[in-house]
Amino acid sequence: MNNNCTRFAPSPTGYLHLGHAASALIAANWAKANSADFVLRIEDIDQTRCRPEFETAIYDDLHWLGLNWQQPVRRQSEHLLDYQLALSELQKQGLLYRCFLTRREVMAEINQAPHGIIDVYSGPSKHLSATQEAELLEQEKPFAWRLSLSKAKEVLGKLWHDLEWLETGSGQSGLIKAEPEVLGDVILARKDISTSYHLSVTHDDALQNITHIIRGNDLFESTHTHVLLQVLLGLPTPIYHHHALITDEQGKRLAKRDGAKSLRELRENGISAEQVRDMVRL
Ligand code: GLU
Repeated sequence: MNNNCTRFAPSPTGYLHLGHAASALIAANWAKANSADFVLRIEDIDQTRCRPEFETAIYDDLHWLGLNWQQPVRRQSEHLLDYQLALSELQKQGLLYRCFLTRREVMAEINQAPHGIIDVYSGPSKHLSATQEAELLEQEKPFAWRLSLSKAKEVLGKLWHDLEWLETGSGQSGLIKAEPEVLGDVILARKDISTSYHLSVTHDDALQNITHIIRGNDLFESTHTHVLLQVLLGLPTPIYHHHALITDEQGKRLAKRDGAKSLRELRENGISAEQVRDMVRL
């Protein structure tokens, strides 16, 4: 019996482009070659950015590429309670703290950090007293829940040094030591949404028994955090394969904001699914 399973997990915040096609095709081809399951998950927790027409377009574009997936499709927006339960499990272990800071204040704290890490928040320089926190809550000041890496270190003790994952991707490969400091004290529940990408993706990969995660190299750094969350939540760590990113003629990573062509635009311009499959063969 083969219980291997991989997935494609797009967010319906825009139309799929060649980078998405690469991830989806690499995952689906891997599944086929290994008699594994291939599931599709719609990562739509941010309802302010997700739109139903983008979700419909995901199904259309993937079918056009010749892909099929297991049913039912999991839509994260329908499972917010699951993520809240995972969050409270971490909360019970004393691993979370409320962060009332605005983005600007977070940047200011980062810039003051003695080690000069530029874009990673490594926890508050001063914790709020219980009274200060109660006052802010009283004023209904919005807050995010962040994962405290210092607490996680305390809770895991020696295990902290054993955090690792098996990587089969095109860049670094082999056993990789997970260093959650790479992303710092990440947000696990946003001010506006009771979860975050890191929490819901880790939860769902385990729930859906994903054994092999195949995704772009842009998410390599997030894996450091995901492995930590898996251990804290008692979940298995899958095998990861981070593939190279599709770049434009200048070698620049494709991004929607830079006008990367969507699959449907390519299709409207007469490009065939076969040609797209060739374009993303990494
Ligand atoms: N939903 C994420 C995205 O569209 C991908 C999540 C993942 O593959 O881990 O970027």
